[in-house]
This record gives sequence, structure tokens and C-alpha cells, in this order.
Amino acid sequence: MKKLLLALIIALNVSCGSAPADRGAASTQGTPSARPRQDIDFEQARRRMVEEQIEARGVTDSRVLEAMSRVPRHEYVPERYRAFAYNDNPLPIEFEQTISQPYIVALMTELLQPEPGDRILEIGTGSGYQAAVAAELVSEVYSIEIIPELARSAADRLERLGVSNVFVRAGDGYLGWPEQGPFDGILVTAGAEHIPEPLVEQLKPGARMIIPVGDSLSFQILRVVEKLPGGEVEIRDNIRVRFVPFRRN
Ligand code: SAH
Repeated sequence: MKKLLLALIIALNVSCGSAPADRGAASTQGTPSARPRQDIDFEQARRRMVEEQIEARGVTDSRVLEAMSRVPRHEYVPERYRAFAYNDNPLPIEFEQTISQPYIVALMTELLQPEPGDRILEIGTGSGYQAAVAAELVSEVYSIEIIPELARSAADRLERLGVSNVFVRAGDGYLGWPEQGPFDGILVTAGAEHIPEPLVEQLKPGARMIIPVGDSLSFQILRVVEKLPGGEVEIRDNIRVRFVPFRRN
């Protein structure tokens, strides 16, 4: 059973919100702990995650590192995967979706260059974990999830954990959240075939959108889309990633 679970998790390493293994330090988190769950020191596991998976791959923004050290990732994964919550890979959540690899969450948050007063939009709430990490660093996070049940459970989870500055809505994130825009930054956590124009429109001048883009099912390129102060848009490519598809209703 344990072997099966491990195989599943290894397979998932190439499924969503993950980086190719050849970038930076390789995965150092090996076989999941054999200790019973209640003995796991989640805080220590989280510290190791930050050092070995995130700092080691070159994320340097101390606020991002602190946020990653604070947010209890194990609260955002299904009960049966808690023991693996701080491993170097994405994990399954409900409805065949995934919570992204910790490094990818940290990288996307760093690329966003969040400021304390910012209002951020996230597309693809999933478990609510990425939203909770961003919420540590900005004033408000608006997050849209296309699967209503996931939107509901993420909103409930965030409330239970006392995260009060994330606002979750069920809907198609392609259209953004114009009533709350424009935003100081946008995070898209599903792999899009192209950059949605409504999201570009909802970026403030000087703001960035971080989005995985590609028409291949096997990977996307993480792109940084910056709206310059004059309104022109500049696009820079970052690393190859693999996210679940950006869906349309
Ligand atoms: N950010 C999440 C992981 C996201 S997985 C976390 O931290 O856990 C990608 C999510 O994007 C899935 O839940 C999927 O249902 C959602 N999604 C896909 N297409 C979408 C769309 N058009 N609008 C909103 N959400 C979408």
C-alpha cells in the first residue's frame, strides 16, 4: 500500500504545478517518513522544505521564504496525504486537481513582487494554499475557482484556519473579477493556451501577471506578463512547468 502511494506521488511529480527535475538542486526529499502521522513535526518539515527545496533553488525574497515557513501546507492537503505535505512535489486534491509543488508556489509568489498594500487576483483556488501564501504578503487576495465544490471547500478551509483576507468566488477565471479590479498582481495556477485578454486588462500599470502558458499537454512556460507604466505589455519567459489545464465552462 505504501509503495503504491509512493508510486502515485512520484507519478504526480510530473502532473501539476511542478518544475522539471533538472532545475537547480534536485529533489532532496526522499522516501516519505515511516513514522506514524501524529509524530510528524510539521514545523521542522516546513523549515527543511524552505531550505532544501526553495532557498536551494534560488528563491531569495525573505518575505516569501517567511510566508512559506508560516503557512501550514499540511492543512491544505487531503488527510491521507498529510505525511507527504512537505515533500518536493504536487499532491492530489479533490476533483482530480492538485496542490502545486512548494517550490513553484514560492517562485510564482516571488515573481509577483508583492507589496504589503497590494490587492492580488488568483485564478485557480484549488486547495487555497497559494492564496494563503500570497495573503501573508499582501492586503487582499481575490481567488476564482471553476469547480464550485472546490471553491466552497477552499473558502471553508481558509475560514477555519483564520485566513480572513482571501475572498473566493466560483466561476471562470478567464474573465477575471472586473468588479474588484484592477489588481496589483495576478497569479494564474492552471496551464493556459494563451494569455487571457480580460486578465491583462485587469492589471494595473506597473503590475505583473504570472501565468503558465503553452499548447502542449505535457508542459507550459511560466511567463511574467508586465504591464508597463505607459500601458504597453512586456512578456518574459521563466522556467518550464506542468500545470493542470485552464478550463472553460
Ligand atoms: N492554486 C492551487 C492549485 C491549483 S490547481 C493551490 O494552491 O492549491 C488548478 C486549479 O485551477 C484547479 O482547481 C482547477 O479547477 C482550476 N481552474 C482551471 N481552470 C480554471 C478557470 N478557467 N477558472 C478558475 N479556475 C480554474
